[in-house]
Amino acid sequence: MDLLARQERVRRILAERRLEALLVTHVPNVRYLTGFTGSAGIALVTLEATHFITDSRYTLQAHGQVAARLFPAEDSHERAVADLIRRERLRRVGLEAERLSVARYEFLTRELGGSVQWVPTHGIVEELRMVKDAEEQRAIRQAVELAARVFSECLAEIRPGVRERDVAAELEYRLRRAGAERLAFETIVASGERAALPHGVASEKRIGYNEFVVIDFGVVVDGYCSDMTRTVYVGIPDGRAREVYHTVLEAQLRCETEMRAGMSAREIDALTRDLITARGYGAFYGHATGHGIGLEVHEAPRLSRQNDAPVPAGAVVTVEPGIYLPGWGGVRIEDVVIVTERGSEVLTPTPKELLVI
Ligand code: ZN
Ligand code: ZN
Repeated sequence: MDLLARQERVRRILAERRLEALLVTHVPNVRYLTGFTGSAGIALVTLEATHFITDSRYTLQAHGQVAARLFPAEDSHERAVADLIRRERLRRVGLEAERLSVARYEFLTRELGGSVQWVPTHGIVEELRMVKDAEEQRAIRQAVELAARVFSECLAEIRPGVRERDVAAELEYRLRRAGAERLAFETIVASGERAALPHGVASEKRIGYNEFVVIDFGVVVDGYCSDMTRTVYVGIPDGRAREVYHTVLEAQLRCETEMRAGMSAREIDALTRDLITARGYGAFYGHATGHGIGLEVHEAPRLSRQNDAPVPAGAVVTVEPGIYLPGWGGVRIEDVVIVTERGSEVLTPTPKELLVI
């Protein structure tokens, strides 16, 4: 992980935009640029140096960890930012438009008055984060493999009469025991009609007989996330259940096989959407095909109809089409893949044939 090279890339962007600094307030972006793994810190990247602001809770940690000049926040982080900007005599400073709160912005404009021109920027660091280096890919691979291993051990927990919440609890406990730093997001276990809710977090409902069960979960290893979904059938699937499952699977496999770097996110999305639409289920597939994954579980690039940008080699994304029929249930299948020049490398090793329990 070459933090200085990342900071240098930000500097080049600053120079192009005639900015003297970028105020980085989004914590995953701060981590990406400085190496800081704590939860409260701000980076200020100027043309000459990278400064890191944190308070006494984190100064010791930051000393050993952060590739930047430490600027302690004695009062508040915002006041330290204002002091630093004043000291460095900065006049044109970029801010992260999606990430800086109105309260902080108001404080800074009040503190620094008209001496600083604030320039909203969008996704400068997020765009750099899209392409994962070898070390980042290794961390994601570890998270994905850990999750897949524990999932296969937990399949026996899925049976009629067991509450969704108990399946989630068992899974989460074993994930932690296996080495997950934490869960990447709230575990989804959605059975029967609830499987039609794309984000049906585990509830009190007991798994019934002749139901799909959607399980979607992720872990964090070395700061990097995994995200996988498998849908299993409890009972004896009828023709429709098989048809819906195989439509989703076919769309998912097609996307993984045909995607490659340089295609736009919209084109990749179309690989799943066109197939599902052609089978008559387009109206029941409301979400995007996938999303980037890394320090955050949802990050750039979003593989959606609204995103025309090309997806670069080295991006790590999910491929997760689904069909959700209200009152009936739903199916989603999700892997993590690395986008390459020639196609994609699927990291998730878990089988995808319809598993009947
Ligand atoms: Zn997921
Ligand atoms: Zn996902």
